[in-house]
Amino acid sequence: MYQAPRGTQDILPHDQAYWRFVEEKAEKICQLYGYKRIDTPVFEQTSLFRRSVGEGTDIVEKQMYTFEDQGGDSMTLRPEGTAPVCRAYIEHGMHNLPQPVRLYYIGPIFRYERPQAGRYRQHRQFGVEAIGDADPALDAEVISMAWEFYASLGLKGLTLQLNSIGCKVCRPDYLEKLRQYYSGHAQALCPDCGRRLRQNPLRLLDCKKPSCQEIVKGAPRIAEHLCQQCARHFDALKGYLDGLEIPYELNPYLVRGLDYYTRAVFEIQPREGGAQSALGGGGRYDGLIEQLGGTPAPAIGFATGLERIILNLRQQGIELPPIPGPEVYIAYLGEKAKKEAIKLAAKLRRAGIGATMALGDKSLKSQLKQANSLALPQTLIIGENELKKGVAVLRNMALGEQVEIPLSQVVTRLKKEA
Ligand code: AMP
Repeated sequence: MYQAPRGTQDILPHDQAYWRFVEEKAEKICQLYGYKRIDTPVFEQTSLFRRSVGEGTDIVEKQMYTFEDQGGDSMTLRPEGTAPVCRAYIEHGMHNLPQPVRLYYIGPIFRYERPQAGRYRQHRQFGVEAIGDADPALDAEVISMAWEFYASLGLKGLTLQLNSIGCKVCRPDYLEKLRQYYSGHAQALCPDCGRRLRQNPLRLLDCKKPSCQEIVKGAPRIAEHLCQQCARHFDALKGYLDGLEIPYELNPYLVRGLDYYTRAVFEIQPREGGAQSALGGGGRYDGLIEQLGGTPAPAIGFATGLERIILNLRQQGIELPPIPGPEVYIAYLGEKAKKEAIKLAAKLRRAGIGATMALGDKSLKSQLKQANSLALPQTLIIGENELKKGVAVLRNMALGEQVEIPLSQVVTRLKKEA
């Protein structure tokens, strides 16, 4: 028996209401903030991710689905959404548009991870990117968008964590201080942190192992080593968030798993959640466009995983509007009535009224049973007698009441009731 690949899942019809709900809210928030949709391919040249996400990162080192295509080129299923959007921004000359260019995407992301609750090998992300402006007000806009998005879903008890990880001016000095500090603890580090110390010291702050977390507590804090411009940017952002009454917690150890981030970084977590539970996160990436060969353009983005949102919606018992289905079930008795039923179903659908038809030659009783189990509110019944009279019987399934309606008036009558 085949099964969905490990770490992937089928989204069955009865779960689709969650997906639709979340995606509609995402579209709505983007419309309110003036972000336009972009769809990029699900695979890109491998080097795009190596250059942007960074060589020493978990994503590039361990998690990419990379393959050689039939032409011998190395391709990778996208493990994140920002680099492809930046590639598209450069490729399509979007720096010629009024800046910033505000974009959003919704689509699948692939990471070879150890599957567990809220962590899959294919998941879906909603992300936004605002490219071409360095104003901290744009950071506040993106953070407020994320915050308002979760609020519009009805999610409660979320916290916003905020940090600044500096820029290419101030970060090198800080990293040197961090390296010096950690060199004194090299023996006590976990093997991953041993590697981080050599390749990607900022990520040392992010280790979840209790023994390493003890060491983190004494590490120098980047927020205390920012250059003047980064400090000013961070202060302005905090001021704007205060003005918007968006509560945030400063977390000096918040760093993100991708190398391209600069300055403000943030994550949104459920209060109850563990370390692996970030609902979404983002930050500035002022150097990325230039690094990928574009005209320099500062930028900020945010991404959130739909599966984790849905887990939280379920945990919090949030009720969703149902996806509307057909309104009428059409039952018939006999071949002649069946022909009429087929025509009637088509006529109803053309008039915008959803209809599902019985099939085969089941008894009326079993047809009504099926109508009940499909939970359609009304059934139209056509038998030999009805045909002769040119009518159909309309049965209200909840009340069990029936009326005869001339076949020619079925559409008008049901439209009135809709
Ligand atoms: P990241 O790019 O790692 O910050 O991911 C952004 C968001 O995507 C996270 O906050 C999660 O909500 C979601 N996410 C990331 N990786 C996974 C995964 N493997 N499975 C499910 N959701 C994920």
